[in-house]
Amino acid sequence: ALELRDIHKTFGDHEVLKGISLEARDGDVISILGSSGSGKSTFLRCINLLENPTRGEILFNGEALNLKPGECDLYASDMKQLTRMRQKIGFVFQSFNLWPHMTILQNVMEGPLHVLKRPKQEVLEYAEYLLNKVGIADKKHMYPNQLSGGQQRVAIARTLAMDPQVLLFDEPTSALDPELVGEVLGVMRGLADEGRTMLIVTHEMNFAREVSSEVVFLHQGLVEEKGTPDKVFGSPDSERCKAFISSVF
Ligand code: ATP
Ligand code: MG
Repeated sequence: ALELRDIHKTFGDHEVLKGISLEARDGDVISILGSSGSGKSTFLRCINLLENPTRGEILFNGEALNLKPGECDLYASDMKQLTRMRQKIGFVFQSFNLWPHMTILQNVMEGPLHVLKRPKQEVLEYAEYLLNKVGIADKKHMYPNQLSGGQQRVAIARTLAMDPQVLLFDEPTSALDPELVGEVLGVMRGLADEGRTMLIVTHEMNFAREVSSEVVFLHQGLVEEKGTPDKVFGSPDSERCKAFISSVF
């Protein structure tokens, strides 16, 4: 379980997050919606301190991440703890971030082999299993730039290889050609069906409605509406949320 309490983030004099709280229990799939600039990416990045929050608390499996105040932001005061938590919270970016000089297979093996220091044969077998699962096993000896599409599925396999307990996705299909979007959403739907805990920033409304246990709509750094997909998509209380949803559908 992951709990965020009253997360604030200020860049200069711009308060981008104004106190966001959210709880993901194991198996929850939470979709985060909102217009451009509402703070979705910043919030996601604050969860594993890719961005340092200005204020707030982060609890992972009931354990509070130790934070100490710096000049403006909170910083991790225990790097070992932060590293341990980060390994359990996988992040899938919009822009894949694969290593260009490594094959697909090497990309997926890199973390478990060199960060987790797992035995090579075990890592190889698991990597092949994961590449098969995301439907790209036949391309395992190719380099990322030789793949036409499929990079995001590799990136997902690479994240899964670290055995994360929670997966964070920041618009994983936004940089894809339209014909590739369905494949990636299919993989993500499979992960949701497996009971994975996921926080997903997305503009794919049909997908969000189908897979989410909860939908959160952000507006100007605050939670403006949240609830079940039926509630948020079907009868939101907030006029802004209603307008946003009808604008993207
Ligand atoms: P999008 O849908 O376009 O991805 P978003 O909801 O993810 O938008 P954020 O990227 O979190 O929004 O940005 C929220 C606000 O914070 C924006 O006004 C953005 O300009 C500002 N911002 C984000 N990162 C930084 C940064 N590193 N320095 C200064 N301002 C930033
Ligand atoms: Mg964003």
